[in-house]
Amino acid sequence: MSDDATPTPKSPLNGLKLTLLAPLSGDEAPVSAAPVTNGSGKHVAARVVIVGSGPAGLTAAIYTARANLEPIVIGGVSGGGQLMITSDVENYPGFPDGIEGPELMGLFRKQAERFGARIVDADVNRVDLGSRPFRLWAAGVEYRAGAVIVATGAEALWLGLESETRLRGRGVSACATCDGFFFRDKQVAVAGGGDSALEEALFLTRFASKVHLIHRRDAFRGSKIMQARAAAHPRIELHLNRTIQEVLGTEHVEGVRLGKTDEPGEETLRLDGLFVAIGHRPNVAAFREWLETDERGYLRTDGATTASNIDGVFVAGDVDDHRYRQAVTAAGEGCRAAIDAERWLEVQEAHQAEAGAVTAR
Ligand SMILES: Cc1cc2nc3c(=O)[nH]c(=O)nc-3n(C[C@H](O)[C@H](O)[C@H](O)COP(=O)(O)OP(=O)(O)OC[C@H]3O[C@@H](n4cnc5c(N)ncnc54)[C@H](O)[C@@H]3O)c2cc1C
Repeated sequence: MSDDATPTPKSPLNGLKLTLLAPLSGDEAPVSAAPVTNGSGKHVAARVVIVGSGPAGLTAAIYTARANLEPIVIGGVSGGGQLMITSDVENYPGFPDGIEGPELMGLFRKQAERFGARIVDADVNRVDLGSRPFRLWAAGVEYRAGAVIVATGAEALWLGLESETRLRGRGVSACATCDGFFFRDKQVAVAGGGDSALEEALFLTRFASKVHLIHRRDAFRGSKIMQARAAAHPRIELHLNRTIQEVLGTEHVEGVRLGKTDEPGEETLRLDGLFVAIGHRPNVAAFREWLETDERGYLRTDGATTASNIDGVFVAGDVDDHRYRQAVTAAGEGCRAAIDAERWLEVQEAHQAEAGAVTAR
């Protein structure tokens, strides 16, 4: 089951900031990396700056570091990304027995640092991509970069209930592809009314004995065809005009308490799991002014590569991908962005050398 609030930290986590997990104390407390400084306090220059330290950002860091580009990763105050709030990851290749999300991200980080990537646990709050070198600001430090890779991910939206937060990883999830497998022959519910919720419900019928689809309005927003498929499925039960008031259970999900929007009263559903499918928010705030987004707010690439609309700025992972949203696809995109950045820098640096030679003649 993913998304555990209290996994046991293991050795590769040394140095990682577990902001989203239960706080550690004393000697166990991980040390947060300080902002990289150049001593003069003016700015820090790097050939590549990577923003984000999830699977996409850290894979880009491994590749650019091994290409001798000496990347700086400005990894966010919640370093490690979404897998830091996940326990068992069973679908990342190379780990036949599964691995805890934080442990996996600790290994990613260790591998990037082994090749010389410098990782800063701070958020980029402002950028200027209008001229080169690109400029980025994080924790009061200015970074200047020949190329930038944006790998800031997308946050799953939650209902905002205390009981939901408490039971995350104990039956509450936001990813059916990741966690559906854990609910074989169990009763689950999906909260939401769009295509994602309908898709998650249909996907969960492969495992669950019953899928309750709960929506607060009197009609779903998803496409007609998906609605028809869900309505016709013998293991899906629709609950319209119902809002989740509380997720029931102490150690794990035992049910939900539902409020009614069309009549007075409440009802309770017995459940083993709850999937919240009310959307994702791509983390684009610092880049919105500069980088093109699609109609859903995700960063756009040119389609064939990871290039954004700004020459020298590349995009990887969930921040541009609302279709696959998996650690392995994000890591794959991080690799692509690193190779794109490396080749782009090579061409730029060759042009600069040529221009220098002409001027010197
Ligand atoms: C509950 C849950 C369970 C999951 N389980 C699985 C699973 O079992 N298997 C699987 O393959 N996938 C799973 N996923 C999906 C997987 O976690 C994501 O697809 C993957 O983490 C995306 O990687 P990413 O690097 O693109 O983004 P993220 O992992 O979201 O990382 C983004 C990083 O960018 C940082 N950031 C954001 N804004 C800024 C900023 N302004 N400045 C600096 N840094 C910034 C964040 O702090 C974060 O470190 C799960 C997701 C969830 C929510």
